[in-house]
Amino acid sequence: MSPATRIDTIKSITTHYVDGAFVESHGRQVMDVVRPTDGQVIAHVTLADEEDTRLAIAAANRAFTTYSRSTPEERAKILSRMHQAVAARADDLTAAMIEEYGGVAQFAGLIVQTGVNAFLAAEQAVREVPWTRSWDKTTVTMEPVGVAGLITAWNANALFMCLKVASAVAAGCAVVIKPSELSALQARVLAEALHSADLPKGLLNVVTGLGTVVGAELVRNPDVAKISFTGSVAVGESIMRDGATTMKRVTLELGGKSPTILLDDAALDQAIPSALTMAFMNSGQACAAGTRLLVSKSRMDAVRQAIPKAMRTFTVGNPADPKIAIGPMVSKRQYERIQSYIRKGIEEGAEVLVGGEGHPEGLEAGFFVKPTVFVNVTNDMTIAQEEIFGPVLSVIAYDSEDDAIRIANDSKYGLHAAVIGTDLVRARRVASQLRAGRVVINNMTDDPQAPWGGFKFSGVGREYGRYGIEAFLETRAILES
Ligand code: NAD
Repeated sequence: MSPATRIDTIKSITTHYVDGAFVESHGRQVMDVVRPTDGQVIAHVTLADEEDTRLAIAAANRAFTTYSRSTPEERAKILSRMHQAVAARADDLTAAMIEEYGGVAQFAGLIVQTGVNAFLAAEQAVREVPWTRSWDKTTVTMEPVGVAGLITAWNANALFMCLKVASAVAAGCAVVIKPSELSALQARVLAEALHSADLPKGLLNVVTGLGTVVGAELVRNPDVAKISFTGSVAVGESIMRDGATTMKRVTLELGGKSPTILLDDAALDQAIPSALTMAFMNSGQACAAGTRLLVSKSRMDAVRQAIPKAMRTFTVGNPADPKIAIGPMVSKRQYERIQSYIRKGIEEGAEVLVGGEGHPEGLEAGFFVKPTVFVNVTNDMTIAQEEIFGPVLSVIAYDSEDDAIRIANDSKYGLHAAVIGTDLVRARRVASQLRAGRVVINNMTDDPQAPWGGFKFSGVGREYGRYGIEAFLETRAILES
């Protein structure tokens, strides 16, 4: 059976994964899963309510009592089993991401593989955490923080769920995952995969429901010690505010408006495709998307000519086709949001170099938008300041290296940034002055042990590798007299 056929047969999901079993939902609300390529309903999902959430939290708490005392070696073995179990379902996860989210095959495969590898990376990192340090009569140990609520966004959800679970389990925590309600099918595949990993009962619970219902219960429940959240600034702010009542520890992975600085010694034939790839990866629905391209005034004409040529390879269409670079937006709401930003850019005086409003020709049925590049953008325009979360790139001119750094940092966000240039010493000098949690030089790249997270409104805390595990730990000192 092909992965696509398999998903076609999932017509209705009425259960959640609680205490090691798939149990019927107490929830009464049923949500349609809508396929973004054509707007058709492909599944029905019964959404969890507060009672489902409380049962999941209670199961996690029971599991935590024993699991929190496990050794790093025991956790490494569990992570290895999780890795094998998820790797075995990687094709199904990819197919679900293509089907319910519209992720393009060339990117969805990568995202899922990164999720699979997160378990291996955590298995490696668990051996590197300094669990115990002693001097004189003092011993300091790193202790799991407690039950963790993991709340995720829809745009690369297979990865977010794997990453958060791997780090939390490595730290010795039991978890309740609240996936985005737009990722119900991916969450289901992942729960099935991890169910086969022979985990301690209650260590992992997956409850699909609305943020205002399940998410809010996790945030206010006193038996949840930590919230690890990936999503919007607005919800991140509410989690920080509402979580304060129970003194929640929080990791917040929020939005971005990432700059790509094209230094004036960059070779345009490589630099432009690289910059466009960073802008349009995951169909532009990426927190790290490089949506502000900063170009020196002296090279602006050459860049204006190079972009339309390079854009020919950024084809829009059926995300299951491996040749397609840009798929539909996840929902009608997201389609309309992108349209409103394109209109705003035009109203504020930016010039459309490529794309514009409306559907691409022949793709009127789904939530497809035209990948759009604006030139003559100034950094104070709405399209340069706000996160659009779609395939819309703003090209902004700078006068000097210092001016480029100033514009790059003139943003409420600070998640990701890129510097493209031939002279590496200069590129590194520029990179070291950017106020962002991650800066890549010359191309998008990843390292599962390097921290991920944002400065400023892009969030609080870090994920990935040892940094991600430490986010689920408390420090305890024992002092003998
Ligand atoms: P969102 O904030 O609307 O939703 C994220 C999650 O929060 C969902 O599961 C949602 O159900 C839940 N939620 C909603 N209201 C809640 C509440 N009151 N209490 C608790 N949970 C609640 O974000 P989204 O639209 O799903 O995702 C897009 C956003 O995520 C963008 O801003 C993007 O930049 C950001 N993002 C950040 C990263 C990162 O690593 N920094 C990665 C991907 C996406």
